[in-house]
Amino acid sequence: MTIRLDGRVALVTGAGRGIGKAVALALAQAGAKVAVLSRTEANAQETAHAIASTGGEALAFGGDVGDADFVERTINHIVTTWQRLDIVVNNAGITRDTLLVRMKDEDWDAVLHTNLKGAFLCSRAALKPMMRQRWGRIINISSVVGLTGNVGQANYAASKAALIAFTKTVALEMGSRNITCNAIAPGLIETDMTQGLPEQVRERALQRIPLGRFGTPEEIAYGVLFLCSEFASYITGQVLVIDGGLTAGL
Ligand code: NDP
Repeated sequence: MTIRLDGRVALVTGAGRGIGKAVALALAQAGAKVAVLSRTEANAQETAHAIASTGGEALAFGGDVGDADFVERTINHIVTTWQRLDIVVNNAGITRDTLLVRMKDEDWDAVLHTNLKGAFLCSRAALKPMMRQRWGRIINISSVVGLTGNVGQANYAASKAALIAFTKTVALEMGSRNITCNAIAPGLIETDMTQGLPEQVRERALQRIPLGRFGTPEEIAYGVLFLCSEFASYITGQVLVIDGGLTAGL
């Protein structure tokens, strides 16, 4: 049994790099048409070209997930072009790490704007076509720190915990329409976001991961693929932790 998503239309936010790019490529590989959204248009286009070069179909959008007009226009464009929208992966996310006592208002607002408001805006706009179709999958990329908290990440951890409560609420409101909503909580994954961590922090983190390594973006994409598939048709309101065992002993 393999996962096929032929005929499905997906939107992946933050798909210009890292986890989002791996998710977009995996969905396209499974046969879905993929709308690639990223803040920097050139990054979105690069992912879309990668999909097209393997025979897939993709549209690229450059803009801010926290901008309601941009999100509405993007989703209207997708539905006009492909007549449906089945899957939304709310993946766009940023960090502005610092201890709470030093955290500026702008650090707080920027993180909540992208990580939480972005997911709210994209989900709200996508639910209209999904409700008409009576089929939909929303997957929110949270984080293990949304379950545990983390020093220096009050803004980020709060946004990721809020995404989990948001996920459960969408699941409750949309179950009767055959729309599922789940979250994935990655541990430490090799992307630009973790590339910048000081060597000492990386070493300490590695010692706490039972599998002894950071995860790959593809290992998160496989989780997304599963949650989008018919194999996950009875799963909603859940958090799938993909962390190499990092939180297993907590
Ligand atoms: P990266 O920093 O590698 O990539 C982030 C992506 O999000 C980029 O494509 C970026 O766009 C896009 N983006 C950022 N802000 C916006 C915005 N306002 N509007 C639209 N797009 C935006 O991150 P990762 O791939 O590492 O992380 C992806 C998700 O996974 C995030 O939500 C992150 O919090 C979460 N996560 C990551 C973990 C990790 O260890 N890496 C662990 C746990 C969770 P552009 O390329 O155009 O700049």
